[in-house]
Amino acid sequence: MFRRPSIIFRTTAFVAVVCLTLVALDCWNSWHSRMVLLRQMSVAASNLARAMAQQAEDTIKQADTALVGIVERIEHDGAEPATIERLRKVLALQVAELPQLDAIHVYDKDGNWVANSRQTPSQNLNLNNASREYFLFHREHEERGPHIGIPVQSRTNGKLLVPVSRRINNADGSFAGVALATIDIDFFMKFYDSLDIGRAGAVALVLETGTMMTRRPYSADMVGRNMLETGLFRAYVAQGPTGTAEVLSAQDGVTRLNSFRRLDNYPLFVAAALSKDEILAAWWQDTLWHTAGIILMTSIVGFVGWRLVKQMELRNKSEAELRRARDALETLNKTLNTLAMEDGLTGLANRRQFDVTLDSEFSRAMRDASTLALIMIDVDCFKQYNDIYGHAAGDECLQTISRTIASLASRRPGDLAARYGGEELAVLLPHTDVAGAVILAERIRSAVRDLEIVHAGTPDGFVTLSAGVEALSPAVTKGPPKALIQAADKALYEAKMGGRNRVCTTMRKAA
Ligand code: GH3
Ligand code: MG
Ligand code: MG
Repeated sequence: MFRRPSIIFRTTAFVAVVCLTLVALDCWNSWHSRMVLLRQMSVAASNLARAMAQQAEDTIKQADTALVGIVERIEHDGAEPATIERLRKVLALQVAELPQLDAIHVYDKDGNWVANSRQTPSQNLNLNNASREYFLFHREHEERGPHIGIPVQSRTNGKLLVPVSRRINNADGSFAGVALATIDIDFFMKFYDSLDIGRAGAVALVLETGTMMTRRPYSADMVGRNMLETGLFRAYVAQGPTGTAEVLSAQDGVTRLNSFRRLDNYPLFVAAALSKDEILAAWWQDTLWHTAGIILMTSIVGFVGWRLVKQMELRNKSEAELRRARDALETLNKTLNTLAMEDGLTGLANRRQFDVTLDSEFSRAMRDASTLALIMIDVDCFKQYNDIYGHAAGDECLQTISRTIASLASRRPGDLAARYGGEELAVLLPHTDVAGAVILAERIRSAVRDLEIVHAGTPDGFVTLSAGVEALSPAVTKGPPKALIQAADKALYEAKMGGRNRVCTTMRKAA
């Protein structure tokens, strides 16, 4: 059968649910704000990458546009000394126009310097760049497009430079030399330094072939480094022109969210990376405060709940104890009542109960106009029994007689057998007339005689008793209850006088 859960259980469950809900809500809230933060971080990194790509694209495009003009000029005008002198001036003008440019150079088919944007011919006659990567590339490849080479260190001023170059052809299409524009890496760095990427953020410009062009945080030995084995490059290869990747930096061990983007027209890509730890630092602090708050709140709720449950338990316990005490008191009361109404030796009703019952039965008989009978019993020669067999044996004899009387005189609910005093016993019989009472008295007398309790002091040698019987209808006689006792006593006296071991009534001798 379903039992309704106790109030303590329900209170405990309620407190637990409140605490769990608080914790769950806070966890969800923290998780959600973390997600939002990371999403914002991803968008910010992606915007940075877009801006970087645009800047790189523009920077290279301007240098390349200058190269296109120069190549066309040489191919058309040839490399006569006068032409070259004019060309040098043009180169100087171009470099002056474009702040990103370190210099523009023109080399012949053997890698010898032909024209330069900033130096006079006499100073640089012995410069040969035939071994440079861009030179070898153009000599081997017939394509006319721009080439972005691996970063080089200037042989004239020691700067790190990004070489952008184009091939110069002879009229027959054979290799005639290289036009080279060098972009100062510092130009990129100035722009990168202006970006807000936090303390641990990073940005990079990388050749698609896996060579690092430059990077912030900057270090000179990073320029030109092979990136093929880095997580960033692998992510770029795997995801294509744009994408994002969480990468543990091989350079400084910082985990960053990288957003990379390829340049539209040049074989380069840029990457903007924000440090996850840095972005989440404020979130962690918030979360720690929240968690501390939640721990405090759940502790308070839990403590109050615990106190409440304890108080309920205490109240239940004291209620149970009170109930137990009340039950014990009731039992004690009943016992006391019984003891107060019962005779200690014989177990029959005592004199007090007899008096109370006589009064109430007398009144009832008066109301009902019924007859109330009384048998007064006295053990014969009991003084002698005590004298002969001792008082203890006398007590035992009284108990035996009482049991016999009780068994015969309690057949109907209203009948009452009582110890009237000493060895005198009484049986009150409501709704009984004299004849009926005499029959019962006689039955008691003969039953006791038949017990054959030896008594050397009586004529026939056994314990006997005498009884006086009276019955009256109070409605008719109108006398007090005492009158019934007196009459029965009188009959008993007659029985004694008549020789004992007999039953008498006031009207006639019954046996
Ligand atoms: P009778 O036949 O005339 O009644 O003679 P009796 O000796 O019984 O005389 P009486 O009724 O006057 O004596 C009562 C005796 O019963 C006195 C007392 O020794 C004895 N008795 C009364 N109550 C108790 C009791 O509780 N225990 C014992 N052992 N004896 C009792
Ligand atoms: Mg007596
Ligand atoms: Mg007697």
